[in-house]
Amino acid sequence: MELHIKNTFSKELPADKVIENTRRQVHDACFSYVTPKKTAKPKLLHVSDDMLKEIGLTKSDSESDTFLHVVTGNEIYKNTHPYAMCYGGHQFGNWAGQLGDGRAINLFEIQHNNKQWALQLKGAGETPYSRTADGLAVLRSSIREHLCSEAMFHLGVPTTRSLSLSLTGDQVLRDVMYNGNATYEKGAVVSRVAPSFIRFGNFEILAARKHINTLQTLTDYTITHFYPEIKSEGKQKYLDFLTHVRNNTIEMIVHWQRVGFVHGVMNTDNMSILGLTIDYGPYGWLEGFDYEWTPNTTDAQHKRYRFGNQPYIGMWNLYKLANALYDLIGNAEPLQGILDEYEAIYLDKYIKMMHQKLGIQTPTEASKKMISELERVLQLTETDYTIFFRKLSYVSKNDTPTILFEKVKDAFYTIEALQGDVLNTWTAWFTSYLFILNSEIIDDSSRARAMNLVNPKYVLRNYMAQLAIEEADNENYTRISELYELLKKPYDEQTENEKWFAKRPEWARNKIGCSMLSCSS
Ligand code: AMP
Ligand code: MG
Repeated sequence: MELHIKNTFSKELPADKVIENTRRQVHDACFSYVTPKKTAKPKLLHVSDDMLKEIGLTKSDSESDTFLHVVTGNEIYKNTHPYAMCYGGHQFGNWAGQLGDGRAINLFEIQHNNKQWALQLKGAGETPYSRTADGLAVLRSSIREHLCSEAMFHLGVPTTRSLSLSLTGDQVLRDVMYNGNATYEKGAVVSRVAPSFIRFGNFEILAARKHINTLQTLTDYTITHFYPEIKSEGKQKYLDFLTHVRNNTIEMIVHWQRVGFVHGVMNTDNMSILGLTIDYGPYGWLEGFDYEWTPNTTDAQHKRYRFGNQPYIGMWNLYKLANALYDLIGNAEPLQGILDEYEAIYLDKYIKMMHQKLGIQTPTEASKKMISELERVLQLTETDYTIFFRKLSYVSKNDTPTILFEKVKDAFYTIEALQGDVLNTWTAWFTSYLFILNSEIIDDSSRARAMNLVNPKYVLRNYMAQLAIEEADNENYTRISELYELLKKPYDEQTENEKWFAKRPEWARNKIGCSMLSCSS
């Protein structure tokens, strides 16, 4: 197995001078060198063949002992020096101080096909940033991260990727619902990949500690490697940087709203500076369309990170990033100006995206009104977000509201609820939608094709991941590959996989792991 190693982060940024792996506050450094923990009995469960190719490896490389040992932390690839990053963050609205890679260890960076990839192990043991936790990860959360990051990539959502999923052979103690019922679970490691894993929190910690030179070095590094399109100099460069991060963050969140992804823990330490979806923890997929929904039971009371609040939180987090960059600029006004534009840019992109989902080419006041009415109607009774939009592509300009209702009715969880006022409201919406379609030139089949490129047929429904987890607990790993393959083509009709194009089964409605997840992982 030969990799083209090209380390930039650890070469160009200041390292922690202390080399002992003890839990502590790490000052004026971007990372600390650490060694991953050796595992008892590493076993590779799944490899993303797609990601493998991206970094220049072959299937036979992935079957080698070196691969297994490198991606589980048991062997350090030649001439490389693993490290954990230092970052802080705002968690649930409050400054939490130093957080850092408590259980993520960066192995090295790879250069392939003119792309730079950082490879990181999640669950590979303690680092100086582990605080009171063990640095490990369990199988259930690792399956969820592995499958979902790859599924998101194939949906076209900006995301970190996952190369491999392995068992460590070690046991890990976890209290899933934080109710005093800790049990041992199987330990696992995911090797994940991204151009960079830098977060908003990497900047925040340096600003909070007034390590302004290092803050500037990190910002310059990020711009040089990941925002090379920024050509300005001096303060303008940092303002342009914030503008780019703002735009990428908006882009990512519009995609989340499009596919019905709820991240669950949008703390600033979980916000990628590249606008990638990062840290798959208590995330979930919308089944019934509901702005109020969050899968994260740790956030059940205030629902800060609920589906409908994600766009606002993106802006809130950018305020924290802007604060962190303040010392590089020394003037709040232009920073404020960049943030002030957030809402209008978001809304513009969101509205365009919703028009695409509905197959409308020319937005008008009437179509915008129809969209906001749809958001209301969808919440009158439990309506499956994915099925509704996918089935809507069957619409024909000649349909009557009744025929259209027949076409999408599989999306409703309780069809009996579609009566009286609710039915009348839906009929009115169908009528206005058909009216707008008839004002457009595009024909039915072209519209259907366009809609099917933005409305996925298959997403990683919460219960699907849970099925894979329960089977893997019993040493049956076939479901992991099955779902991985299914979700590689989420927009395709896959007749053999029709069973996954169905509403969530009733047993999964309130099941832990399906609709209820905690941060325990
Ligand atoms: P999260 O909420 O998963 O983004 O984690 C917040 C912080 O807690 C990050 O600094 C993580 O590295 C750290 N963390 C989470 N789980 C563990 C663990 N099992 N061991 C050590 N650190 C952890
Ligand atoms: Mg995190």
